[in-house]
Amino acid sequence: MKKLVVFTGAGVSAESGIATFRASDGLWENHRIEDVASPEGWAKDPSLVLDFYNMRRAQARKAMPNLAHETICELEQWFDVVVVTQNIDNLHERAGSRRIIHLHGSIFHARGTGKNEELVELHSEDIQIGDLASDGSQLRPHIVWFGESVPMMDFAIEEVLSADALLVVGTSLQVYPAASLLTYLPSGKPIFLVDPSPSIPSVGKNLEVIRTKAVEGLPLVKDMLLRHFNITTS
Ligand code: NAD
Repeated sequence: MKKLVVFTGAGVSAESGIATFRASDGLWENHRIEDVASPEGWAKDPSLVLDFYNMRRAQARKAMPNLAHETICELEQWFDVVVVTQNIDNLHERAGSRRIIHLHGSIFHARGTGKNEELVELHSEDIQIGDLASDGSQLRPHIVWFGESVPMMDFAIEEVLSADALLVVGTSLQVYPAASLLTYLPSGKPIFLVDPSPSIPSVGKNLEVIRTKAVEGLPLVKDMLLRHFNITTS
């Protein structure tokens, strides 16, 4: 089977009712990004940050995977698929995708603020001030904030280096190092980009841009991939 890496951003979950980042002047659900997604914001007002992610978690729990998540899962019938997502929701998991790398963490996990990096799975509970990790430190969301390192990046790069094609869906390609993933695809391999307002990366000629919402573009790109690799479906 050919290997396909699917690199997704907030746009793939937009039709599931989860707002993207940059939809409204760089605010995230009416908050300045530096207030809710940076170590400085956490140091200044941890209650506000916990409330913000508690709300995001409740919202993500109610959201349902859409046709784009489902089509990405369906691609596993013909491709060895690895999803690399910048999203903190779990809609790829709930659509059935089997191999998923969360570059920026997960809203459904917490970790301590001390040295212990053990993850705590969150089911229906919120994180409150005073909720502690096993090392006694305050729990925080397991989210990579701006200015923090991206431990899963090396794993994602490994996957892209051995891919036969890259499918990029619903990302502004503004957040680094995540956006640099495109540069690791071996030369000559195709990139398909689905986004209604795409930021066009400078990656040479093998780029096919599908300017639509993910729910409309994914069925189209599925057919394009099958044609590109001469795969018949019956
Ligand atoms: P972004 O908000 O910077 O960019 C969103 C992209 O999606 C834009 O290019 C936009 O044109 C496109 N888009 C909008 N509606 C779309 C649709 N219906 N179908 C397809 N594309 C659509 O998002 P980003 O590039 O992922 O970076 C923002 C960061 O914010 C990420 O690191 C992520 O962790 C975080 N975030 C996550 C979620 C989530 O988990 N669902 C939501 C908001 C932000």
